[in-house]
Amino acid sequence: MMRIGSGFDVHRLEKDRPLILGGEKIPFPRGLKGHSDADVVLHAVMDAILGALGEGDIGQHFPPTDESLRGIASTRLLARVFDLMCRKGYTVNNLDITVIAQEPRLAPYISGMVANLSSLLDVSTQQINIKATTTEGLGYTGRKEGIAAQAVVLLTNQE
Ligand code: MG
Repeated sequence: MMRIGSGFDVHRLEKDRPLILGGEKIPFPRGLKGHSDADVVLHAVMDAILGALGEGDIGQHFPPTDESLRGIASTRLLARVFDLMCRKGYTVNNLDITVIAQEPRLAPYISGMVANLSSLLDVSTQQINIKATTTEGLGYTGRKEGIAAQAVVLLTNQE
């Protein structure tokens, strides 16, 4: 059985926050604001996986009111989503991600993000694709107010 899921997330850019995308720390004067480390890429991936599983969204699984999650690395949250996926008997067939950011230039960090996701989801790097785009200066991402990410995942279950 195969199931598809999509995820989308946006976080606001603020001074004095680290910028972490796809588990990579990226040198930049501003970072994303959020209850966790606000890794918008991993958040979109988690929502895609939860969507494919029919398991709601990350807000239900990791509520922003949960103080134990404050500042938590999103890699740890994704590990929990991965556990749920494995318990339900699914593996990732492929994952396709688009990161929408006017700046910084993300090309140098894509391979690191792919490697992180490959290890977190126990798949080869060939099963993960990450693209980065700007919005040509248009809208909230174009004004550098935030960074958005979308993800599509295909899960397979051998049963
Ligand atoms: Mg989020």
